[in-house]
Amino acid sequence: VHANQPLLRVQDLGKSFGGVKAVDGISFDLYAGELLALIGPNGAGKSTTFNMVNGQLKANQGSIRLAGTELIGLKPREIWRLGVGRTFQIAETFASLTVVENVQMALLSHDDRLFSMWRRAADHERDKALDLLDQVGMKAQADRPCSELAYGDVKRVELAIAMANDPKLLLMDEPTAGMAPRERNELMALTKELVLGRGMAVLFTEHSMDVVFAYADRSIVLARGRLIAEGKPAEIRDHPKVQEVYFGS
Ligand code: ADP
Ligand code: MG
Repeated sequence: VHANQPLLRVQDLGKSFGGVKAVDGISFDLYAGELLALIGPNGAGKSTTFNMVNGQLKANQGSIRLAGTELIGLKPREIWRLGVGRTFQIAETFASLTVVENVQMALLSHDDRLFSMWRRAADHERDKALDLLDQVGMKAQADRPCSELAYGDVKRVELAIAMANDPKLLLMDEPTAGMAPRERNELMALTKELVLGRGMAVLFTEHSMDVVFAYADRSIVLARGRLIAEGKPAEIRDHPKVQEVYFGS
């Protein structure tokens, strides 16, 4: 179907924790312009897969190639520079810093000389930031504190943050968790628009089958670390193994 090379090629990827094979030799391709859903019950290995792609976890076996470049063994920062973005919850941005880094941030903000340097550097990026906010429909609210935003709007800002490195591949682990159905649809429609506009690819996990069927171009289904099905929404829905995993029938 695809004449071109895959953007992401995952082959025989595996990760064990102690004796547990969290991800057990999975292979899949992802093409530019595609939204690929990674679905499966809790504990299936979805987050572990994401964290191997972004470099937070080191795989025990297999390969993950982005446009031909092997990612296994690279640091998260290096992978990010190669064009793999991920959404962070805004609440997580500071939580992802270490204990001492959080205190360093506080010191930095109280050091007038360093703070004015930081402000100058930040001012320099303001136009770029406003352009990103414009792309997610949040430019008009640019100067409001994030704490005042509706939940769906916070998610839009998180998407703008994830776009900062102009990713070729964007990873979204449960982007619509905790959202009302309407907000979910708005976020996924926006994501789809960004994918088509930029020719990037998205790998996302999602619990709502309605969202998967409406927005994913293809899905891969994991259960107990193994890839049990792959296909377009209609193929996945009617797949006997998927029925068994989801509905126990
Ligand atoms: P999912 O995201 O699909 O719910 P995960 O990738 O989080 O699944 O987990 C897959 C399996 O690996 C589960 O059995 C989980 O308990 C185990 N696991 C995940 N992370 C760790 C870890 N850091 N240490 C030990 N076991 C883990
Ligand atoms: Mg998970």
